Amino acid sequence: MPRVQFLGTGNAFAPHGRMHALALIDGCILIDAPPTLLPQLRRAAISPAEIEHLLFTHWHADHIFGFPFLILERQHVSDAAGERILDVHLRPSGREILSELCRMGFPGSLEAALEERIDWHQAESGVLAKSGWRFERFPVCHTPETDPHGYEMIHQSGFRFLHCGDSGPCEGIESRAARANVILVEMGVPDFVQSPHHHTPSDVIALAERHPEAMILVTHNYASGTDETEGFDLPDLPEEIRQLEDGDVLDIISENEFFLVRK
Ligand SMILES: [Zn+2]
Ligand SMILES: [Zn+2]
Repeated sequence: MPRVQFLGTGNAFAPHGRMHALALIDGCILIDAPPTLLPQLRRAAISPAEIEHLLFTHWHADHIFGFPFLILERQHVSDAAGERILDVHLRPSGREILSELCRMGFPGSLEAALEERIDWHQAESGVLAKSGWRFERFPVCHTPETDPHGYEMIHQSGFRFLHCGDSGPCEGIESRAARANVILVEMGVPDFVQSPHHHTPSDVIALAERHPEAMILVTHNYASGTDETEGFDLPDLPEEIRQLEDGDVLDIISENEFFLVRK
């Protein structure tokens, strides 16, 4: 049964009660690599060596700074024998950015691993080997310097999971939302922040109204977690819009049957 685990649901400021946004599909496909990627995997009892595919949305630190730690850990601990290849799916500019990040973080330590233990894939769509998933990457509206993209994840069962990336409302999301079963939207800022590059609560409500047939999940939340007393309160969204908490899981039975589980 396919499943998506939400190992983090916070924006770049890591609000109280949230780690940075991170989605893990079927225990082996990661979308983005936030700074605390390793503790997030440990908390979910996932070995870093189990990750087979890593898909990047854009080049902001809260989405990529965990990459050097992942490569270092696999090299020395969970895949010390060098038996695993990590498939990294990214835009053409990404290999140089991530390689520079590794050079800065662990100079002299990761150069060989970047060559020998990673398969770099720059195609805008493809099949994720040894999984039931394929993807299509599409441009979204966010800080242009970060080359921002979202991912339409399509399971062999026909189930469509739309990861909107870090973005404001845009045509790329809109056209794909119409056929998605579940839409994961990053709600990075509150309504009083004027930014075309992020979804606000009002934007999320409008998205849900335009696409009532899809389940809307909110991540990359600027607000604190449910039980927190400090920071921003959760915005008042309609009940059918689910504001995710760290540790939530989406269990997928079929194209038309899926449910969200809170631990
Ligand atoms: Zn972000
Ligand atoms: Zn961003």
